[in-house]
Amino acid sequence: MSGFPPIFDGHNDTILSLIATGRSFMERSEEGHVDLVRAREGGLGGGFFAVYIIDPVLKQLRASDDPEEMERAMSMYADESTWPEPMPLEYAQNQALDALGRLLKIEQESDGAVKIIRTAAELEECLENGTFAMLLHFEGAEPLDFDGYALEVFYAAGLRSVGLTHSRRNRFTQGVPFKFPASPDTGPGLNEHGKELVRQLNKRKVAIDLSHITEQGFWDVAAITDAPLIATHSNAWSLTQTPRNLTDKQLAAIKESNGIAGLNYHAGFLREDGKSDADVPLSRMVDHIEYMVERMGIECVGMGSDFDGALMPAELKDAAGLPKLMQALKDRGYSDDELRAIAYGNWVRVLRETWGA
Ligand SMILES: [Zn+2]
Repeated sequence: MSGFPPIFDGHNDTILSLIATGRSFMERSEEGHVDLVRAREGGLGGGFFAVYIIDPVLKQLRASDDPEEMERAMSMYADESTWPEPMPLEYAQNQALDALGRLLKIEQESDGAVKIIRTAAELEECLENGTFAMLLHFEGAEPLDFDGYALEVFYAAGLRSVGLTHSRRNRFTQGVPFKFPASPDTGPGLNEHGKELVRQLNKRKVAIDLSHITEQGFWDVAAITDAPLIATHSNAWSLTQTPRNLTDKQLAAIKESNGIAGLNYHAGFLREDGKSDADVPLSRMVDHIEYMVERMGIECVGMGSDFDGALMPAELKDAAGLPKLMQALKDRGYSDDELRAIAYGNWVRVLRETWGA
């Protein structure tokens, strides 16, 4: 026990790490960042578990196991001109079924230690009694059809949050490329299918995540949605000028909607120079939190680690290191109530408002 409130976190790619390494969620590993043992050590009470569909082209290259090929594949996402075509629906649905099935199986085989949460009340209960809370999330709407039938099936399976796009193009909208420095205003927003999807998600009371989307896409969603604006894993653009972070105008809109932004721990989204270099002091993470709190108030800031999908600051290392981050916040002067709000309280509030229960 760390003595700090439990953390509920806005984003991880743990299922990808489990698939890639073959490690078990239930056992302590030195690979990746999250498993149940390290979560308990660090006071991680749960989070959004992202289902991210690897592009078929990239999957092919990954299978080749050649680091140079891999590097080339990843660099595809640095610029819009080299992005792959939107992937076929059937491929995305197959991949999503596999990932969701694996997450549901973790719950099934956990003997009650892990729960897929479907309401804010269930989330609160988990945080109180120490059951690890998994929120099923799509990072990219690729597995969804235009008519909303697949959404019904995935909702029935527990899906409660959808990020419209990753940093690429799909059948609904497009995201921001991984280039630096750049504004998030990198391209068009939602097409008509994207706008219709926002209406479907609103109606179904599924959370809409705005991390990765272009600034135009952000404003398109803001104009349609009746839910609080959520950016699950993005930081302050004024401190680190990657298009993945949020401008002051975007932060103001999130505040206006009583929404939330989750602190992304990726070194490249924290450092002033935008480099993927793990040499980042914990104080820099606190700087981003502090900036967002100044702009939006304490009630609109949460955590959004990007565990298992990004490069962690060396000092933090993985989920077991979370008490160090909480201590750094405490050292900066945050009260126990404020720490609770940032750790989980704000997420619970926003999800209750979004889901209605
Ligand atoms: Zn992401």
